[in-house]
Amino acid sequence: MTQLYRDHGIVLRTYKLGEADRIVVLVTRGHGKVRAVAKGVRKTKSRFGSRLEPTSHIALQLFEGRELDIVTQVESIDHFRPIRDDLDRIARASAMLEAVDQIAQEREVNPRLYQMLLGGLRALAAHNGPVVVPAFFWKLLALEGYRPITEQCAECGVIGPLVAFELEAGGLLCADCRRGTAISPEAVDLLQRILGGQLGSALNEPASPASHEIDHLATRALEHHLERRLRSVTLLDRA
Ligand SMILES: [Zn+2]
Repeated sequence: MTQLYRDHGIVLRTYKLGEADRIVVLVTRGHGKVRAVAKGVRKTKSRFGSRLEPTSHIALQLFEGRELDIVTQVESIDHFRPIRDDLDRIARASAMLEAVDQIAQEREVNPRLYQMLLGGLRALAAHNGPVVVPAFFWKLLALEGYRPITEQCAECGVIGPLVAFELEAGGLLCADCRRGTAISPEAVDLLQRILGGQLGSALNEPASPASHEIDHLATRALEHHLERRLRSVTLLDRA
């Protein structure tokens, strides 16, 4: 039985270990979230230290350890240079990496989560638009099983007009059922496009009051979901 394995991954974060080593947290295509030691990478002559930075898309070989795996080979697939060279995009990428880090479970295989992050980073590298991160958050919620209802009132089913958003109600609401946060017709349209198969056109939207609205709503919805998830994990641990 070999303890070496190969996979593709995206670096979510790294932190120092001892004098010269670094721990790398990755989301991988075939092994879920992995925490691995990269030995000697903080020495100047390290062969692969620079390939193990947050957002790096890499092909790697790991040696399976009892608690932490050990990185034995790294090849760069994509550095996402347009992201690295732009502080604004770095901030946006960091929000995506952090969200995935919170949702991904160690060794829980989730190839769609890996693909989604890859797609999100590629979209951000291609175009630094205000909708990239909120669209990513909405898609992440949908992947987690919390896709908001956007085509009709989540409460009574009327097609429209939809004027409010309430996560606990399940999505958008009509004027009769309204509660939660008021939402403009432009933001309703943008949200419907993001979740309704027109992501490409939504990603090219310029900054507008509507993009701010859906950004704000997406962040609140994801935070709400993560808190509930983290609480449920804590409860499970105590059981
Ligand atoms: Zn209604």
